[in-house]
Amino acid sequence: KPKSEENGAKREGDGDKTEDDDKEDKAAQSLLNKLIRSNLVNTTNQVEVLQRDPNSPLYSVKSFEELRLKPQLLQGVYAMGFNRPSKIQENALPMMLAEPPQNLIAQSQSGTGKTAAFVLAMLSHVDPSNKWPQCLCVSPTYELALQTGKVIEQMGQFYPEVKLMYAIRGNKLEKGLKLQEQIVIGTPGTVLDWCQKLKFIDPKKIKVFVLDEADVMIATQGHLDQSLRIQRMLPKSCQMLLFSATFEESVWNFAKRIVPDPNVIKLKREEETLDTIKQYYVVCNCKEEKFQALCNIYGAITIAQAMVFCHTRKTAGWLAGELSKEGHQVALLSGEMQVEQRAAVIDRFRNGKEKVLVTTNVCARGIDVEQVSVVINFDLPVDKDGNPDNETYLHRIGRTGRFGKRGLAINMVDSKFSMNILNRIQDHFDKKIERLDTDDLDEIE
Ligand code: ADP
Repeated sequence: KPKSEENGAKREGDGDKTEDDDKEDKAAQSLLNKLIRSNLVNTTNQVEVLQRDPNSPLYSVKSFEELRLKPQLLQGVYAMGFNRPSKIQENALPMMLAEPPQNLIAQSQSGTGKTAAFVLAMLSHVDPSNKWPQCLCVSPTYELALQTGKVIEQMGQFYPEVKLMYAIRGNKLEKGLKLQEQIVIGTPGTVLDWCQKLKFIDPKKIKVFVLDEADVMIATQGHLDQSLRIQRMLPKSCQMLLFSATFEESVWNFAKRIVPDPNVIKLKREEETLDTIKQYYVVCNCKEEKFQALCNIYGAITIAQAMVFCHTRKTAGWLAGELSKEGHQVALLSGEMQVEQRAAVIDRFRNGKEKVLVTTNVCARGIDVEQVSVVINFDLPVDKDGNPDNETYLHRIGRTGRFGKRGLAINMVDSKFSMNILNRIQDHFDKKIERLDTDDLDEIE
């Protein structure tokens, strides 16, 4: 029996994955999220706060004024368009700005205001009349460090006495130099060298240590070790802050080694649900038929914007080409593109410049394009063993709680294999996926 060419294909990017690839994926994903994120992520979940001293009162603030920030910083906050603290900031900011300083481990998904929070804490604790490094921030990659640096520059725009230095590979300084910048941000290897071997920084004078993206950091053993070595050089009195988007056991174990006596703040991810989604499947025999079905769907219903997921780069490229030939404005998101290029494509799509976004699984993992009303699985998501990838399925088409609009998902089935995958996905979520006849599409609109 003819087997669809996709079924046997290796999942893009997977296969013989090394630790470094995995870390790169995570770092790229995180960077992509930062580049495309222009607002706070909405959430209805409550933060969980675990205080080191459960008897001390729990402070939370509803306004930035209550924090008694330096006027230059308050001005910076407002210039960035922030009106009130985000959910995580309500609790994290008073803790981080308290006297004496408190240690903090904070976990919440990307886009919830962690970076803005620790940047504000660093800027608040700096004494600009002291010309030496006082705040140290480590990030997993050069690009992520730069992104955080940008936030420091923006928030500190009315506080020009505070200077920033990047401790990243390639930034070569003269031997024997002592840094005068009050904030240093960099990657663990270079920061460690600058503290230990090259002595550009006196670690004993650091007042605030921030470890960002802990989950990405620990994906590399080297980074994990370097971070611990940096931490051990810092004085006991140094405030330790650690942030992570996810919190598996391994992150937690690492966090406890970096941050002694921590307060802990957690904000659960909004659960995704299929409740507001109409799910259908279409039966075809080959990818050409799937393409035809896709065109029929397009002709029959008014689609604001759609995302189409393919299994391989090859299919995605082919499909994007075919759709263009039919006169559709198509954006293509593909694995070989740089993160910045991907962000630009997503941005154009967001702004409505293109109506269809064709992408591969790996590329689109973890990105949220909220206004997309139709998701088409040109290929169903399967893991590298050929089993249904339920998590990816849910993430592609699911909506988060009350914020999600109603949506439509259409799955293309082209073999016994993919029919079996579809049935297993249907069973897993216990939600009916209805058959759709693309020659008679009256029922879906
Ligand atoms: P995270 O570090 O958790 O990914 P960020 O601090 O980068 O989150 O914040 C995500 C987005 O929300 C950024 O665009 C940031 O400028 C914005 N943001 C952060 N805090 C606030 C706030 N209090 N009010 C409005 N926007 C905010």
